[in-house]
Amino acid sequence: MKYILLFISLLLSTITLYSQSDKEKVEATITKNKIEGHIYFLADDLLKGRETGTPENKIAASYLANSLRGYGVKPVTQNVLKGSNTESYFQEIKLNKISPVKRLLLAIDGEEFKKKVVIKPNKMEFRGEAIYLGYGLENDYKGKDVTEKIVIVRSGGPNIPDARAAFGLIEQKEQLAKEHGAVAVIEFVDTNETTWGFIDHNFNTSRIEIATDKEKKEGKKELAYLWVYDENNIQAKKLESKDKLNSKLMMEGEEIETVISQNVIGMVEGTDPQLKNEFIIYSAHYDHIGIGKQDATGDEIYNGARDNAVGTTTVLSMAENMTKYPTKRSALFIFFTGEEKGLLGSQYYVENPLLPLNKMVYCFNSDNGGYNDTSIATIIGLGRTSAEKNIKDAATAFGLNAIDDPNPEMGLFNQSDNFHFAEKGIPAPTFSLGFRSFDGDVTKYYHQAGDEADTLDYDYLLKFFQSYVLAGRLIANEPKTPTWTAGDKYEEAGKSLYGN
Ligand SMILES: [Zn+2]
Repeated sequence: MKYILLFISLLLSTITLYSQSDKEKVEATITKNKIEGHIYFLADDLLKGRETGTPENKIAASYLANSLRGYGVKPVTQNVLKGSNTESYFQEIKLNKISPVKRLLLAIDGEEFKKKVVIKPNKMEFRGEAIYLGYGLENDYKGKDVTEKIVIVRSGGPNIPDARAAFGLIEQKEQLAKEHGAVAVIEFVDTNETTWGFIDHNFNTSRIEIATDKEKKEGKKELAYLWVYDENNIQAKKLESKDKLNSKLMMEGEEIETVISQNVIGMVEGTDPQLKNEFIIYSAHYDHIGIGKQDATGDEIYNGARDNAVGTTTVLSMAENMTKYPTKRSALFIFFTGEEKGLLGSQYYVENPLLPLNKMVYCFNSDNGGYNDTSIATIIGLGRTSAEKNIKDAATAFGLNAIDDPNPEMGLFNQSDNFHFAEKGIPAPTFSLGFRSFDGDVTKYYHQAGDEADTLDYDYLLKFFQSYVLAGRLIANEPKTPTWTAGDKYEEAGKSLYGN
């Protein structure tokens, strides 16, 4: 009797399992406790803000890889790291960490200039002649000998006064100065204090770039390029009238340190004999900005709970759900590093994909700054792909409304990892916590030390994660392959990638 009862109950549980709807499958694996576990760990002070290339960034990567391992997500076949003989969840990326030059002195015509930034460094101890050359464009060189001299120019061009546009002329001006034998370009930038503050902040901090062989070529004659603050071009006008200028430029080289960071990648095969050849990418960056300026409370660890422990948890939630209830299409899970350093992990991935990009039919990214409306999820690019309905239906099923980018003029679509996939032609929106505008409720936490795990509303987050996973399931089970909306900017790229 006992055994018969056991048998019947087993049979019943099997039947319920098979009759589960997608929504029930989502509810079965995603619980508040699990999501809290991920977010509290990833945003713990011990991880020091997960800055790319730090040991704590690697601890986060290890947590993600081993969560995938625990769920039964497989590493991508043939992703074997050098010196190993087993497949790995890690895609290692070699990066250059470049510190700003430490010693820098610039004096022209007896005057020393303090407000300056190095655009292109080059170790030098120069004492000699400088020459004023207007904008430093082709025509300005006519009849001038700049050999072994410093070239002084004003920013922009005849019709380009804006500092941001001036930045675009740097390559050209550098090239011209080099061709004519100059040793350095000093550009006087006509801008205001506020803009200069951003420029200074940007160039006078260390930065991280993907290491390429090209950067290692030494011995080639390089030239230094500096920007000097010069509101209304007062200094430039003063120098314009002078014929011969004495100058001094002392600069130490940059310090370049090689660091390694990882994308974390795993896959689950789909169940449909045909559709399993198509992959949905579920992605989020796991890095954040590390340790920074102390806030009013004395906190200096930028934990990045919203940005992007939350996004990371969407992908973990999808991965766990997928191993238990695989979808028709296959899944590729990617956790990117280096997003905060300029979308580096995703750039590296699209340049070095582990699986052919034309088999990736969708990239469902998640990145988060903050939220100010717990009745919605905000999807950057919602209306730009044919999966709009799937995403809306999924949100509705969990009591949320899916809305599109409320501030397209901010260009958020191009500011997260989805961008690199979109450029390749892969339909790729970004799923974000609900915000209706980038207001104080968002900026209070966005890239602030106070972005901590205990400031989040986990009842809301549960609905948010369940919506993401259900949306992913609906897209992955949909008979029709997702596409860009007709007329989208990336529609052509999509056609050429998929050959249709
Ligand atoms: Zn982010």
